[in-house]
Amino acid sequence: MRAMVGSWPVIRSVAIYHLCTVEWPVTSAAMEFPQFQYHPDPLSTGSIKASAVVCDCCGMARGFEYTASFYSPQRSKPRLCPWCIASGEAAQKYDGDFSDAFPLQEEGIADNIVDEVSKRTPGYNSWQQEVWESHCEDACEFHGDAKSAELSGLSGRELAEHLDRFGLNFEQWESFVSNYREGGNPAAYKFVCRHCGVSIYSVDFT
Ligand SMILES: [Zn+2]
Ligand SMILES: [Zn+2]
Repeated sequence: MRAMVGSWPVIRSVAIYHLCTVEWPVTSAAMEFPQFQYHPDPLSTGSIKASAVVCDCCGMARGFEYTASFYSPQRSKPRLCPWCIASGEAAQKYDGDFSDAFPLQEEGIADNIVDEVSKRTPGYNSWQQEVWESHCEDACEFHGDAKSAELSGLSGRELAEHLDRFGLNFEQWESFVSNYREGGNPAAYKFVCRHCGVSIYSVDFT
């Protein structure tokens, strides 16, 4: 009886030691969700979801999983956590891109920005190849599916500029807006300029 009582403090101190030196720092780091300046809220856009899966890149189950595009020579798409996206480890390990760099390069956006968007920023799912928009000589923030009200609220010069880019006339646009549902087909995405704050929409239909 005396031996059993005496053994408790030893066991408890070992348990506390492990909690403090091994588990606590890992838990603490895992709680700081990575910041993506070009995709500020990937949970709300659906590109990252809460998940118990183990990340193929770091081997850890970090509570989140990437759900959108990844272009890589790998035969099967790796399951990735947001930390491996932010650090660039996933892009490097699988020689992949989360979005097509070409549209940004074509607009003359600086290489370091193109790299950050295509290799260290969650992409998004679209029906066709996605185009990351740019403005004020920088890549824009991606804000996910456009709201119906925002699209139907476009007017005047802003609408004319958008229709010119989309290659649609006004009747086609009215039909597009009336058929538009968030997350459906046709799709419309919202980007926001990080400098002047203008909203830029892109449309996508099969
Ligand atoms: Zn990972
Ligand atoms: Zn701008």
